[in-house]
Amino acid sequence: MNAYARLRRPDGARYAAIDGERAKLLDRAPWRGGTPTGEVVPFTPAELDCPVEPTKILCVGRNYAAHAAELGNAVPASPLWFSKPPSSLLSPGGSVRLPPESERVEHEGELAIVIGKRVRRIAAASALECVFGYTIACDVTARDLQKSDGQWTRAKGFDTFCPVGPFVVVGADPSALGIRVSVNGTERQNGNTRQMVFGIADLIAHASGMMTLEPGDLILTGTPEGVGPLLDGDRCRVEIDGLGALEFVVQRE
Ligand code: ZN
Repeated sequence: MNAYARLRRPDGARYAAIDGERAKLLDRAPWRGGTPTGEVVPFTPAELDCPVEPTKILCVGRNYAAHAAELGNAVPASPLWFSKPPSSLLSPGGSVRLPPESERVEHEGELAIVIGKRVRRIAAASALECVFGYTIACDVTARDLQKSDGQWTRAKGFDTFCPVGPFVVVGADPSALGIRVSVNGTERQNGNTRQMVFGIADLIAHASGMMTLEPGDLILTGTPEGVGPLLDGDRCRVEIDGLGALEFVVQRE
């Protein structure tokens, strides 16, 4: 499996192929045909930037039956789409800012698809061909505003509400990956991607029937049960088998 990252280098953000302790810098994003420039630097986790620059972040709600049930909702008959703005992206190790408008912000650890090809109305049977790789995301949600607003743009869209990373991993089989979320070392969520209501190929096919998917776009695939609050000073860790661990801290805005 190959892992890619985006690193904060002295000359700006650079995509890189991670090879153990070394990072091989690329001339552009790997899903845009990036190739190694020959520059090899030590891999430094402190340099990790958000590993993608998507034109859009599509998300699916209630895609795990037990999570739908824990919030008193039924599983939808077709994927329930919403989106988060690119301005909500947060780098690994960054700080989720709790907005003063909400009294209840929650974590939703999720597997995220990174699109590798421009597609529109791709069939489910061939949808996996347009996947570049997979990464980890947290669909941070102001649960009180989600309920009071009725629609979800504000509740899901605050700045820093979409931590992503640390890597984009190519070659992972997404059909049965464990997802675990812990806050301050205590486990909150422990699910598996095999529990998804709509699988990866069906989600891509359905989304591409709505809008053109571009290389580097992100699709968040829903969260397993166990969502819970994020409080000022918390440290949250989202781990997915084979993809590593995404960590962030929580601070009042
Ligand atoms: Zn979610």
